[in-house]
Formats: sequence, structure tokens, C-alpha cells
Amino acid sequence: MDNGSVGGLWPPLVRTEYVIILRHCLKTTKRLGESMVGSIVLFGPPGAGKGTQAGRIVELTGKPQVSTGDMLRAAVKLGSPMGMAAKEYMDAGLLVPDEVIIGLIQERLQEDDAGQGVLFDGFPRTIPQAESLEKIAIVSSVISIEVPDDAIVDRIVGRRMDPETGEIYHIQFKPAPPEFEGRLIQRPDDTEETVRSRLDAYHTQTAPLADWYSERGLLIRIEGNASIEQVGKSVESAISRVF
Ligand code: AMP
Repeated sequence: MDNGSVGGLWPPLVRTEYVIILRHCLKTTKRLGESMVGSIVLFGPPGAGKGTQAGRIVELTGKPQVSTGDMLRAAVKLGSPMGMAAKEYMDAGLLVPDEVIIGLIQERLQEDDAGQGVLFDGFPRTIPQAESLEKIAIVSSVISIEVPDDAIVDRIVGRRMDPETGEIYHIQFKPAPPEFEGRLIQRPDDTEETVRSRLDAYHTQTAPLADWYSERGLLIRIEGNASIEQVGKSVESAISRVF
């Protein structure tokens, strides 16, 4: 006998209760849907460990990493006119002009793998970049890795890269296996003088973005002056709050 419940098995529900439950389900699905397709911004000074933590976020969310620094370095390596122009800014520790960066991002977001949102690493770095991004993508959260300047200088000046594997080492904190030591290189913009310029650029042009995103309720601050594992745990818990 049908007592008004679905299939006669569940306790009877009146019509209004079905409507309330249905509305709740639709709202929840929409919220999840929105955040799943949204992008994440990884924010912080140069050398805060964004690149290292990006790998973890890619594993957790499946979103592709979009690093403007890597894209620019690839253009420099290719020797393209844009790469050559960008190199002068990069070597001096200055930000590459907004129009160049915004053009790069617009192109990248048209690729198929960007449909569900991406992980931005090193972008946006100015308020005009963030304003342009707002027009072309949904940002679900901004994870800010916070590290004091002196710790940054120690980290960056000792940083070395293995050109064959792309692995990043540090002469003090993460020494490479002895057999790889001979082939390690230092990025040309990883000298103390350039690091100080990059930190200046960060404080004057990029740091104001933290308030900009905080006003929009998107900023999650993480203590970055800790071990890679500890920072990784904080990043994981930030991601699980959003996705
Ligand atoms: P990164 O590897 O993210 O530290 O970037 C290396 C350099 O590339 C920076 O010091 C800037 O000169 C340039 N760069 C990377 N991303 C941006 C950006 N979003 N806006 C302006 N310049 C950038």
C-alpha cells in the first residue's frame, strides 16, 4: 500500500518536506560544482616554497599547475622575442609588464586541461593582474604561504637546480646526492642582490594583493617558515576546507 512515501518504504514525507530537501540538495550540488571548477592561487614571496607545495596541490586536486615563472623561463630558453624582452626584467629582479603576463594567461586558460580550473603559481602578482583574472576565471581560494624576508634570502641564495630532472635542492637544507652535485646550476636571478630586488617588488606590488583577496573572503594564510612537511600539512588542510 502506498502511504505517500517514495516506493512506500520510507516514512511518509509531506510535499513541502520533499521540496525543502530537494532545494537543499540543489544548493549543495551547485556549491560543490562551483568550487570544483574554480582555480586556486598559490601566493607568497619568491622562495616561500610555492613550487614545492604546488606539486602536492596538483596531486590532491588534479588541477594543472600554471606557473608564469616557468612559462617565462621556457620563452627565454626558446629565444622568442617575448622571452628576450622578459629576460631583462627577470634578471634585474623586476616584474614583467602586466600586458605580457595577462596575454600568457589568457592563452593558457584556453587549453583543454584548464576547463576545471587550474593552480596558479606566481600569478597574479599585481592588482591589475588579479582584476584581469577575475574577468576570465573563477578563483575559489588563495593560499598565502608567509615567510620572513631573511629566511627567504637564505633559502634562495642556497637554491640549486638539477637541469636534467628539474629537481630543486638546497646546499644546506636539502643537499643533492654527491653524484649529481657537479651538474647543479643556480638560477641567474637567485643571487642575493637580485633576491633583494625581487623582495622589494613583492612588498610594493604583490603583497597588497593579500588584502585585496582577503576583502573578497578568499585568503587562507599559512605559516611558511616551517619544514616542507609541516607546510604541506597546512596546505592539505586548507585545500580540504575548500574542495
Ligand atoms: P618566479 O619563478 O615565479 O619567481 O618568477 C621569476 C621571475 O619571472 C619574476 O622575478 C618576474 O621577473 C617574472 N614573473 C613571474 N611571474 C610573474 C608575474 N605574474 N608578473 C610579473 N612578472 C612575473
